Amino acid sequence: MSDSPAFGFDTLQIHAGARPDPATGARQTPIYQTTAYVFRDAEHAAALFNLQEVGYIYSRLTNPTVAVLQERIATLEGGVGAVCCSSGHAAQIMALFPLMGPGTNVVASTRLYGGTITQFSQTIKRFGWSAKFVDFDDEAAVAEAIDDNTRAVFCESIANPGGYITDIPAIAAIADKAGVPLIVDNTSATPYLCNPIALGATLVVHSTTKYLTGNGTVTGGCIVDSGKFDWSASDKFPSLSAPEPAYHGLKFHETFGPLAFTFHGIAIGLRDLGMTMNPQAAHYTLMGIETLSLRMQRHVANAMDVAAWLETHEHVAGVTYAGLPSSPYNGRVETVCPKGAGALFTVALKGGYDACVKFVDSLEIFSHVANLGDTRSLVIHSASTTHRQLSPEQQKAAGASPEVVRISIGIEDTADLKADLDQALNKAHG
Ligand SMILES: *Cc1c(COP(=O)(O)O)cnc(C)c1O
Repeated sequence: MSDSPAFGFDTLQIHAGARPDPATGARQTPIYQTTAYVFRDAEHAAALFNLQEVGYIYSRLTNPTVAVLQERIATLEGGVGAVCCSSGHAAQIMALFPLMGPGTNVVASTRLYGGTITQFSQTIKRFGWSAKFVDFDDEAAVAEAIDDNTRAVFCESIANPGGYITDIPAIAAIADKAGVPLIVDNTSATPYLCNPIALGATLVVHSTTKYLTGNGTVTGGCIVDSGKFDWSASDKFPSLSAPEPAYHGLKFHETFGPLAFTFHGIAIGLRDLGMTMNPQAAHYTLMGIETLSLRMQRHVANAMDVAAWLETHEHVAGVTYAGLPSSPYNGRVETVCPKGAGALFTVALKGGYDACVKFVDSLEIFSHVANLGDTRSLVIHSASTTHRQLSPEQQKAAGASPEVVRISIGIEDTADLKADLDQALNKAHG
């Protein structure tokens, strides 16, 4: 089928990018477990290597199974193209790579996945890049942080560890005015709940490890391009606007137009950084995406039920879930993620750090793991794990204080989830 956006989300999550296998008629997308592809002749090979013809060369760059997933996610996000890669963190580097150079910076929200804060505050310095962390509720501070060397603004739609929703239209307007792209990590929301591109984002990144795959089987990442940013409007993005020496002076933006970022991601990013998604991982994620809307509806309904119940529990000091009327971010649900505030939130326990540790050790249905977005309910004490490398100030800003536990609500029966939480809370406070 064609990938017309006229089709509904439930149809596109099953069909976009896929067609019966032309060689065999196989209805399900085959796992093309191959490293290389035979060239028709030497001329064909040369045209492929010159980017004059689109086709398969080598699976570090492109693979037919991965290509279906790329088209599927791009369609669901309303983008023009997507590049899949080996993990969510790889996607973040791949998103920044064409934009940044030594001495440039990214203006990032303080409310991010712990690993992203570490990647941005420490590791990217090795490339000569830097990050400026700002409270994204302070719009004046975001605008002020953007300077001549800023090449991107970065935030999460529904921010890990949960309970916070970014005002994407407001941040997009600031980035737009400054002439820099807005990158939104849409992992916790998924394209079913939030469409950052429709709200003004330039690029969307995903850890497909989470809800898109949905069952905790494989790691993966994806970068989706809106195709809307004018890379040639300034001299800030020479990787996309200036002649590329590795391709005989080809200019990506001039040559590929709205697909410039996607082509660069494959022809330069995957070719030289090699953070490639393998076809087995793409297969698992394609299987997961087919049921994305069904799972997200249940995740959201369960999260609403459990969060509201937890809020009234005698051992609970507070619940930060943007779906609850008590949340200061409840008012943003309507514009940013109208189908629900996701299934990730934090709960603060009256007993502090010690109670949190006892609580996670006492749960039986919930697993204590460094993951989220699984069909299974998961829990983690962020301060002693994912956010352990951060300073106390960074932990607090990220919503991962020591007295707080992060919960990722699965799609089990909520009666069972509440009973499990109740017995663990009682043990933690016994
Ligand atoms: C997990 C996660 C990442 C990192 O993804 P990996 O696949 O683990 O590399 C980035 N951002 C968010 C919001 C995440 O939840």
